[in-house]
Amino acid sequence: MAHTKKVGSAGRFGPRYGVKIRKTVKRIEEKQKAKMVCPRCGAKAVKRVGSGIYQCRKCGAIFAGGAYTIVTIVGEEVRKSLEAKRGSA
Ligand SMILES: [Zn+2]
Repeated sequence: MAHTKKVGSAGRFGPRYGVKIRKTVKRIEEKQKAKMVCPRCGAKAVKRVGSGIYQCRKCGAIFAGGAYTIVTIVGEEVRKSLEAKRGSA
């Protein structure tokens, strides 16, 4: 864990995206570890049960979109960040 500094699990991205993005990733991933709201029944009972697999403890619905969702969110943040940099340069 010597090189992860303050960014925790987001340290795997290295210096590529900048501290702000990595902190965003860390925040999102911490959120993903916590229970999420079920898009089917609305209960805050969705737990990660595998790689990118989430299951609602209340209605039993299984979602496979977790891994994809985080990639999408991060990609969007990176894109916005790059556009902002370009705009101010
Ligand atoms: Zn549910």
